[in-house]
Amino acid sequence: MTQHFIIVGGGMIGLASAIGLRQQGHRVTLLERGPAPSYSDSTELRVSAIAHHSRDLLTQLGVWQQLPQQRLGPYTAMEVWDHDSFGRIHFHAGEVQQDDLGAIVENRVLEHHLWQRAAEVGVELRPETTVTAHEISADQVSVTAGGSTIVGDYLIAADGNRSPLRQAAGLPITYWDYEQTGCVAVIRCAQPHGGCARQVFLPTGPVAWLPLGEPNLVSLVWSADDALADELRELDDQAFANRLQAVSDQALGQLEVVSARGYFPLRMQYAQQWVQQRLLLIGDAAHSIHPLAGQGANLGFGDVIALLEVTANDFAHKELRNWERERKVAAVQMISAMESFKRGFGSANPLLKVVRGIGFRVADKVGPLKRLLVQAALG
Ligand SMILES: Cc1cc2nc3c(=O)[nH]c(=O)nc-3n(C[C@H](O)[C@H](O)[C@H](O)COP(=O)(O)OP(=O)(O)OC[C@H]3O[C@@H](n4cnc5c(N)ncnc54)[C@H](O)[C@@H]3O)c2cc1C
Repeated sequence: MTQHFIIVGGGMIGLASAIGLRQQGHRVTLLERGPAPSYSDSTELRVSAIAHHSRDLLTQLGVWQQLPQQRLGPYTAMEVWDHDSFGRIHFHAGEVQQDDLGAIVENRVLEHHLWQRAAEVGVELRPETTVTAHEISADQVSVTAGGSTIVGDYLIAADGNRSPLRQAAGLPITYWDYEQTGCVAVIRCAQPHGGCARQVFLPTGPVAWLPLGEPNLVSLVWSADDALADELRELDDQAFANRLQAVSDQALGQLEVVSARGYFPLRMQYAQQWVQQRLLLIGDAAHSIHPLAGQGANLGFGDVIALLEVTANDFAHKELRNWERERKVAAVQMISAMESFKRGFGSANPLLKVVRGIGFRVADKVGPLKRLLVQAALG
């Protein structure tokens, strides 16, 4: 039976859900407090490593085909090393019988093309509309935005990690603060990145260089303990590049900052309940994780894939509860994998450093750590 879904939040996950539901014949209204997403010629600050399952979904939604090739950074290899020991893991897509391990995409580029596609398939898009209240009863939902009220069958909160809807519904979260801040910037490197995603583990957090479409541009994600992040904020671009150079072990040659720098507090959280009557939480509204394996959005796309399996047929509350259970398991597994990496490699303990070095060397052959890394990269 055709339903009317009201989606709050026009980020990647809200938009992907909207297109998928609309393609199934449902009526969909999407409200986004910001303007319709657009992008410029220069590289956007925030990027995501898109895993294979997310790319398959985006292809099915008719979006991947629309993305400009020059703004896609497919990566074929990954190199992870420990700054303070001899440990190093390197793996190539060929080792897992793949052409690539995923692709780096700028968030705004992806959001823009998702928005365009949503309009094309007939999603009712309402930009610059902030939801201020909602009501849920046994047989309908309603939201108030910009002085008018919209009534539908289901309400999907895709309104990000601070999710005003989740808070208004009184749904509690489990969380811990990583006491780290993610610093992001676009970096020009003297040596071409060669399609390799690189990450070094420092005692103060991991630093990642993600290959962009241009051979000498990478996107930096420096997850730094808050005290270090405060220091980094104070540095001018040249001093910042020097600090980055010092931790890069010369992996990419001379580095230059070519964008503004953005800072994001990092925190793990997940909602204890994702379905409340006719309200569903999805994407970052339901879970957010450390960016060290670049899996936050991929987890959200996984939520969308599983939800579309439910909504393809007639469904009742029971099916939504099954969806919630299945996706909670996926989120918790990813959260604990991230924790193992962070705790294992984010420590200055000298004994751990030795173990880490050995672990990395053994892992480079067949070890479970390498498998875990490959699995995380592939989503
Ligand atoms: C530093 C960093 C690096 C990352 N790298 C990666 C990566 O490599 N790979 C990966 O998979 N993930 C990565 N992530 C995670 C990824 O960015 C998020 O998981 C993803 O953006 C979440 O998308 P979303 O659509 O759920 O939420 P959001 O993108 O937060 O979208 C929520 C939307 O809701 C709107 N909204 C909020 N409240 C209202 C309201 N009341 N009314 C109307 N609209 C509202 C907001 O304006 C916003 O547009 C990274 C995160 C960080 C911090």
